[in-house]
Amino acid sequence: MRCGFCGYEFKEEEGIQGCKNCPMTSGCKMVKCPRCNYENAPEPLLVKGIKKLFKKKEH
Ligand SMILES: [Zn+2]
Repeated sequence: MRCGFCGYEFKEEEGIQGCKNCPMTSGCKMVKCPRCNYENAPEPLLVKGIKKLFKKKEH
């Protein structure tokens, strides 16, 4: 995924799952950018599927 703030690309697993101690919800799914700490919403599966389709077309 790509950080919406600084454009840094990283895997969701590499992102900082920062909201585990969030008092509002028990573990929201925001992923923090390891570079700038911006909270990104995880990519929906639908978006991932579309990206795969595009990759197949490119190659
Ligand atoms: Zn960032």
